[in-house]
Amino acid sequence: MSIRLANISKAFGNTKVLSNISVEIEPGEFFVMVGPSGSGKSTLLRMIAGLASVTEGRIYFNERDVTDLPSKDRKLAMVFQNYALLPFMNVAQNVRFGLENQDLSDDEKTERVEWALNLVHMADLSDRKPKELSGGQQQRVSLARALATKAPVVLMDEPLSNLDAQLRTEMREEIARLHREIGMTLIYVTHDQVEAMTMGDRILVLNDEKIQQLGTPLDLYNHPANEFVAKFIGSPEMNLLPITVNDEGDRFSIGDAFWTDNAFVLPFDLPAGSYHLGIRPEKLVPVSIANPDTITAKVKSLQQLGNDTLIFCDYDGQSLVSRVPEQFTVAVGAELNLLLPASADEWHLFNVDDGEQIVAAPEEGAATYGA
Ligand code: ADP
Repeated sequence: MSIRLANISKAFGNTKVLSNISVEIEPGEFFVMVGPSGSGKSTLLRMIAGLASVTEGRIYFNERDVTDLPSKDRKLAMVFQNYALLPFMNVAQNVRFGLENQDLSDDEKTERVEWALNLVHMADLSDRKPKELSGGQQQRVSLARALATKAPVVLMDEPLSNLDAQLRTEMREEIARLHREIGMTLIYVTHDQVEAMTMGDRILVLNDEKIQQLGTPLDLYNHPANEFVAKFIGSPEMNLLPITVNDEGDRFSIGDAFWTDNAFVLPFDLPAGSYHLGIRPEKLVPVSIANPDTITAKVKSLQQLGNDTLIFCDYDGQSLVSRVPEQFTVAVGAELNLLLPASADEWHLFNVDDGEQIVAAPEEGAATYGA
């Protein structure tokens, strides 16, 4: 089932929560809505579910206007953060309860319950009460309850937030597998950008009432539309440095003035002025010998993650972080040479005033970085 949101706005009294949200969700898509707490993700999901009213705009399922259709008539199932299982019913009864409103024979219901419990690997525990299950098992039951309905649309609201980190990783895989096997349209709300990046076919980033960006996980990582997305997607956050480009448009200094004796060659031509330069931590690489393309930063702290090392530095009052894909040792307080990225596609440039991305297409004959 395809879902189309057309100019959706939502206000609670005088408080605007969402403005002009338009998006089309493809049939069978794993669609993730992500944003910080309070950005309106749950509210948007609840409007799709028919559990919250729409202030302005229309919602279409397969091009049928469902804006005023009651939730029970929308052919969807929901999975919540708190599992919402009934404590006095066992696992099988809880799953069956999800089929109450469906016109199915007893045998069909029994078959559906078995099918769904097998899918989530819970068939062996069908006699247990919710309190006899771990959090992860309870969430599997609530997944089974949603799947048993065979609803073409499944909505999930932070379903993994109550689980510990290891279980969350495991359940992410499980949900992705279930989606692959069943192929329903899945709309998934999370505040966790890692969850969004690892699960979604496409991700909608919400903040400040608006869609900040809509794209595949790698679109968002490689081409963030603005500074908010640049910092929200990816961990540790993208480095952002103020830079000033000279009148000739071929060199820049870090900071809010141009200094000839502290200038670097631009990897592409750029109009004179001030910008914010974004560099992913893995693109800010330590090198042993300083050269005209390095900056010298002071090491403030290190995080040894085993496979990666995060090096937190200070450069002229700016905090920077470099990620090295190996075990790397450097003394805190030492000076570290960091190579600025040489290729245009490792640069992210943003407008100083509104944080919007500047698309600086390399021009023919433009100076190449370091030339
Ligand atoms: P998110 O899911 O992104 O954390 P929500 O959709 O839950 O955000 O909430 C968005 C905003 O709307 C918040 O500021 C919240 O306080 C407000 N809000 C949500 N539901 C209600 C409600 N029923 N009445 C008034 N304000 C609400």
